[in-house]
Amino acid sequence: MAQIPILYNDAYDINVPIGHRFNGTKFSKLANQLQKSDFHQRLDFHQSSPVRYQDVLRTHAVDYVQRVVDRTLSREEVRQINLPINTQLIKRSFLALNGTYTTALKALDEGVACHAAGGTHHAHYSNGLGFCVFNDLAFTALNLIEHGSAKKVLILDLDVHQGDGTIDICHDKNGIYTCSLHCEQNFPFQKRQGTRDVSLDSHLEDTAYLNKLHITLKEISKEFMPDIVLYDAGVDVFFGDQLGNLDLTLEGIFKRDCNVLEHFKNRKVPVATVIGGGYSPCDSDIAKRHLSIFRAATDVF
Ligand SMILES: [Zn+2]
Repeated sequence: MAQIPILYNDAYDINVPIGHRFNGTKFSKLANQLQKSDFHQRLDFHQSSPVRYQDVLRTHAVDYVQRVVDRTLSREEVRQINLPINTQLIKRSFLALNGTYTTALKALDEGVACHAAGGTHHAHYSNGLGFCVFNDLAFTALNLIEHGSAKKVLILDLDVHQGDGTIDICHDKNGIYTCSLHCEQNFPFQKRQGTRDVSLDSHLEDTAYLNKLHITLKEISKEFMPDIVLYDAGVDVFFGDQLGNLDLTLEGIFKRDCNVLEHFKNRKVPVATVIGGGYSPCDSDIAKRHLSIFRAATDVF
């Protein structure tokens, strides 16, 4: 059986103030759980490397990137990002961009690859938002196209929150199709218009959610045949999530992830996955939820 490429970096964790909603240690906890999992022999770990600065400027305004690097963002800009802007966060923000990009390149070679981070979909062209400094999904799509690795990229965003930043950056770009399934009554409250947006009612449960997903995947197939899918497998759709508003079970999330991977595997479209959102004060609980997409990858491929 084939090995599944996994991108990770020891520098992904960040320190956040006690009681902060963002769990800064979930990344190392996830890597740890992956290495101890019953499918660890199928996983091929790679360290993500720093990004090329000029590639970031294809995704974000130069003055914004420079103000992040110089740590001269305004108090309001920092408030919008809602994380302490320090050298640790800046370093991991650049690393995670290349982590998702490298995951996509590996997926093109192997059929599937998974990033043990990524999904910072609220970062806009010239500002960060909601725990997101730079947008790894938009960055990856734009650079895959720019460097000739793909002509058509589908960004399938199943995090419970709409990827407004991804839509902001990609909406006028040729070859990029954005699809978001998200809870209507949730952040960001001002939704953007992507290529396909599916608003879900609060407290939707497994069966209804999976039906919506099934219909959506069929509709996308009629409109767009991608060279690669960037799949944001956010687990904040879980009923116990602190910032979600849907009622999926862990079993439902696993079915969702398997359904997405099977759908594209059957069409011979490579899939690169990112973990997206997931919120709990307990890093072990949240890491356990994020295991779903990795287990699904080893099951389906
Ligand atoms: Zn989210």
